[in-house]
Amino acid sequence: MKANEFRPAPRAKCYADVPDEKWYDWRWQMSNRLNTVAELANVLDLSESERKALEARNLFRVDITPYFASLIDPNDPHDPIRRQVIPTDRELVPFTSMMEDSLAEDRHSPVPGLVHRYPDRVLMLVTTQCASYCRYCTRSRIVGDPSQTFSRKEFEAQIEYLQRTPQVRDVLLSGGDPLVLAPKLLEEIIRRLREIEHIEIIRIGSRVPVFLPMRITAELCEMLQQYHPIWMNIHVNHPNEITQELAEACDRLTRAGIPLGNQSVLLAGVNDSVHIQRKLVHDLVRMRVRPYYLYQCDLVEGAGHFRTTVAKGIEIIEGLRGHTSGYAVPQYIVDAPGGGGKIPVMPNYVISQAPGKVVLRNYEGFITTYTEPEDYNLHAIAPLEDRVFKRPEPGQEGVLGLLHGHDMFIKPTHFDEVHARGGGVHRLKADEKKWHPLGIGHVPNLLEGWTAAVKPQLEGSPANGESQE
Ligand SMILES: *Cc1c(COP(=O)(O)O)cnc(C)c1O
Repeated sequence: MKANEFRPAPRAKCYADVPDEKWYDWRWQMSNRLNTVAELANVLDLSESERKALEARNLFRVDITPYFASLIDPNDPHDPIRRQVIPTDRELVPFTSMMEDSLAEDRHSPVPGLVHRYPDRVLMLVTTQCASYCRYCTRSRIVGDPSQTFSRKEFEAQIEYLQRTPQVRDVLLSGGDPLVLAPKLLEEIIRRLREIEHIEIIRIGSRVPVFLPMRITAELCEMLQQYHPIWMNIHVNHPNEITQELAEACDRLTRAGIPLGNQSVLLAGVNDSVHIQRKLVHDLVRMRVRPYYLYQCDLVEGAGHFRTTVAKGIEIIEGLRGHTSGYAVPQYIVDAPGGGGKIPVMPNYVISQAPGKVVLRNYEGFITTYTEPEDYNLHAIAPLEDRVFKRPEPGQEGVLGLLHGHDMFIKPTHFDEVHARGGGVHRLKADEKKWHPLGIGHVPNLLEGWTAAVKPQLEGSPANGESQE
């Protein structure tokens, strides 16, 4: 097989007589999705645990396209595709730290369906519907439920918020899956976003290319390419999901000028090993899809048994970085429970540091030292006028704000109360000023007030990098 060729998707036996015009029609695939015990039993032998789950009340919605169900090996009870879409009774078991909305998205929603967590970009949930439903869905609190879908009025409120929020330059369409929307509606959303001048890029997060590659029609690609710059992230977790049909869908999208990335979730019993991840990322780059993020599984209802340790994710990155093309290595991300946002996690490559030297190791265990310049100085820190700080919302500067001298510390809530250690003000505590820093960071204006005796010493010190006579 040539580098750009992939195996055609198999068809489950029960679909042998479906004519090609139907099989390759996305509407046929959508209306023939599998969701009952009887339908699924046509495709594979259901286990006791799977039957129990399918018959449970309050189960997170099940729906699987015939195309995707056909990728399951019916003889393998541990098939990695089966695990992703067919529920088992383990899904019904609660676990410690389980939450309904572990990323605190609803708290970050200025209007329903819009999540504004980061300074310059928003997540826009445009539907709660998907082509098939992933058992570990991070948004299972709303996804799959047609009564939770966003109304026209809410859409107008989302647009109105974006119009009056000029710091947003990146809108990420998600859901649910934006590509299951009626084509006209999808176009209207994108067109309305494009009318807002400060929105620079539009991104689509979709698993439709994987569940329903026939939906990526020439017409859809033509529509999307009128609204560039458009970027897309797909969602592939295991190399078995990569077929000729998916590769062709990705080819149509990239030919329409849409750069493709992949976001996958690290799932126990599905893709939690270095060799599976290596095959996955290699097959993705063969399709010109850049691995973007590998997510740690969120602490949401139904997903407990899919969790791995964080150590497993670090081990996987250790097995990729340096061992294969940099293009093929995703960022491993823990999306912080409690709404802290995405946190990149990786193996440690910095072994030690002292002024002027850094000790580093590479993927082979080779240890090296990098010698830093002696005359590199504080002035090299970017000026305070940096565009980053001109945002209307302060308070998101974080550690960068410490580096740039806007703050000297970041304090947890109640820190000041706890450390004030009660009591009335006494002699030693009377002077509040002693806890306020004399300016923060590099403050030349402040130094001007200093006595002539101190100033030359400070400015002339080698650490400050200025020439000494
Ligand atoms: C993931 C996410 C984004 C996009 O994050 P990137 O790191 O820029 O891909 C934006 N908003 C929310 C709420 C998210 O969860």
